[in-house]
Amino acid sequence: MIPASHPRAFSLHTRDQIVEGLKKGMTSIHGLIAHGRGEAFDYLLGEKTHPFAWEAIHAAATMLNAAQHPVLSINGNVAALCSKEMIQLAALLDAPIEINLFHASKKREKMIARHLLSLGAKKILLPDRGMIPFIDHNRKYCNQDGIENADVVFVPLEDGDRCQALQKMRKKIITVDLNPLSRTAQAAHITIVDNILRALPLLVEEVRRKNTPTQYNNKKILKNAITLMRSRV
Ligand code: ATP
Ligand code: MG
Repeated sequence: MIPASHPRAFSLHTRDQIVEGLKKGMTSIHGLIAHGRGEAFDYLLGEKTHPFAWEAIHAAATMLNAAQHPVLSINGNVAALCSKEMIQLAALLDAPIEINLFHASKKREKMIARHLLSLGAKKILLPDRGMIPFIDHNRKYCNQDGIENADVVFVPLEDGDRCQALQKMRKKIITVDLNPLSRTAQAAHITIVDNILRALPLLVEEVRRKNTPTQYNNKKILKNAITLMRSRV
């Protein structure tokens, strides 16, 4: 039990959520490493949501609301941290949630699907004969009615290869990534540089608000995030 007064309570509680995801068979052991990398960048952000993240969240909400076939991609880390918010987002957008794992595993797909259904998810898709070209291993599979057919894909905590491939497929990509230098952050159309735990509840609220679109420049957003991190080093 972590006392609320502990100065690192939020971070320690988040680690527990990831470990719980691992125990439930949803999160891969490699997910722990990806989480640690995220933590390092969150330290540089001062564990706060900054104006560049707010701006990206606003743009992401308007893009998702305007999409014809939005798809929300979930992996083992996202399932452990933010299943509830992903389900809320799916309900607001009437969009499917597609399970999309970096280390393909039918067993983990099943555990994540079961977890999402137990929390009230309506439409869950698994990889089938859909194909992401430009990737030559078993991560190329996706769902034909899901990612393959989507115009906008929300892929938080995604790997760079797949994000770049989706970009080549001319999908509009929205991601959440604490590392503004990652290939995913650089390849996405909209990068929310923030911890997914802070960003997703805000994104749900923004989608609900249905705000009007504003000018958006992802290069500027990434530059602002890097400048902020440098200023804190
Ligand atoms: P890339 O493949 O995009 O170049 P990478 O190989 O360094 O990046 P991956 O493990 O492929 O990293 O992707 C995981 C990404 O998710 C990392 O950039 C990490 O910083 C980020 N991340 C991890 N945990 C969180 C979190 N809680 N919120 C937001 N981002 C996170
Ligand atoms: Mg990677």
